[in-house]
Amino acid sequence: MANNEDLFKQIIAHAKEYGFIFPSSEIYDGLGAVYDYGQNGVELKNNIKQYWWKSMVQYHDNIVGLDSSIFMHPTIWKASGHVDAFNDPLIDNKDSKKRYRADVLIEDHIQKIEDKITKEVEKARKRFENFDEKMFRETNGRVLQHQKEIDEIRERFAALMNANDLAGLKALIEELGIACPISGTRNWTDVRQFNLMFATKLGSVSEGADTIYLRPETAQGIFVNFLNIYKTGRMKLPFGIAQIGKAFRNEIVARQFIFRMREFEQMEMQFFVKPGEELKWFDYWKQTRLQWHTDLGIALENYRFHDHEKLAHYANAATDIEFRFPFGFKELEGIHSRTDFDLSQHEKYSGKKLRYFDPELNESYVPYVIETSIGVDRMFLAVFSNAYNEETLEDGSTRVVLRLPAKLAPNKVAVLPLVKKDGLPEIGLEIFDKLKKEFMVQYEDKDAIGRRYRRQDAVGTPFCVTVDNQTKEDGTVTVRERDTMAQYRLPVDALVDEISAKLR
Ligand code: ATP
Repeated sequence: MANNEDLFKQIIAHAKEYGFIFPSSEIYDGLGAVYDYGQNGVELKNNIKQYWWKSMVQYHDNIVGLDSSIFMHPTIWKASGHVDAFNDPLIDNKDSKKRYRADVLIEDHIQKIEDKITKEVEKARKRFENFDEKMFRETNGRVLQHQKEIDEIRERFAALMNANDLAGLKALIEELGIACPISGTRNWTDVRQFNLMFATKLGSVSEGADTIYLRPETAQGIFVNFLNIYKTGRMKLPFGIAQIGKAFRNEIVARQFIFRMREFEQMEMQFFVKPGEELKWFDYWKQTRLQWHTDLGIALENYRFHDHEKLAHYANAATDIEFRFPFGFKELEGIHSRTDFDLSQHEKYSGKKLRYFDPELNESYVPYVIETSIGVDRMFLAVFSNAYNEETLEDGSTRVVLRLPAKLAPNKVAVLPLVKKDGLPEIGLEIFDKLKKEFMVQYEDKDAIGRRYRRQDAVGTPFCVTVDNQTKEDGTVTVRERDTMAQYRLPVDALVDEISAKLR
């Protein structure tokens, strides 16, 4: 069994080999943390977006969509706080010339101590039967010592981050003896703040032109259109606005493939509610969003909530849905109760009233907001890595199969004539023409049938339809299912209904 790091490498290699994800500008040696989606990747990505859009906009009579522009008035980013506070603390190692996020160096150091605890637990598990991990964590001296160390670092770290104390962060890195993984030295520069927004200039007005930014999130496009949609859509509270679109962040350390990119896509929904009702709706969206994930058939044990103890000044509740990626549990989606912060800020900076008139109370107020925000690419990685399986079959052969949820698979059906003669390709193409009106379908007649099945397994096609000599006699084909490899015959005329039923 491959370890997690090897497994992750295999997943990345598979994504490339089968046309899901390529490094951007590859023939020019690539561009850091930017990726392109190939012929299969774009289908999977579109299906993820459609699954989200349907669940939000189509299935809710009080949520509508929006497609706002990437460039927006620069004052928006002042009002939202991004110009002043969308920063990461960075530090360079003077010997390797490598740049790091100071907070990540400290988090990684804490992780190393956590790993020591895990090792102690593993050791004890080997030695004792009926091993009680909780009791062990509470009583074992070495573990307690490590835990105490972690708690102390965390406490100091949080205080320094809150106080924006960059000198203190550097001092902590030095005190913990953190060395650069490349040079091995502790020769660090001072810590500096680095704003994550990409800036550019607008068109021909270079003289005195304001700097504008590539949006670092899609949410602000929703807030500044609140009034437009509320009025033209005759919306009543509570109501939501959903948007899917590109976002850009100049991440300092962009690692882990498409987990952290500099250009990525978000699916965000802002749900406007009456003040005082926000926590009820926060709970509703927490459960609704988790359900959206598990409805795909991905086991619940791969998800957990991480409720924020320390809240941003404008939030009164926040949680992350974390997913078990190959490199551990990490944030997949954020759900935040943002009070009236954003709309009030835009009222202040724009001078326009962004209020809802409540006919029952006969008064106007600034609505509160619950936000759900998920990265399309992170969702792609979650689904893709969870689907990747290497299996040994009963006959001892192996196959790589992508057990993608059928509704997300790039192609739903592959039509495969058993041999490339005897009129079978012609029948196969006829079936292809019929099915393609309903689903994404592939037609393939090269190579032995076994190899073609493997290729379809590797890209996650849930159904293969094989045309053979019997098809000519009785109009039936063999349907082969990806996951069970079960095979059964069906009349050609029944294919659309049978496959549609299984895709629901
Ligand atoms: P992280 O802590 O991982 O940087 P964040 O808390 O900054 O994430 P949000 O600002 O809440 O993330 O963005 C909402 C969602 O957008 C995240 O849950 C994630 O799915 C996605 N996302 C954020 N940054 C990136 C990125 N650099 N690459 C890919 N997806 C991202």
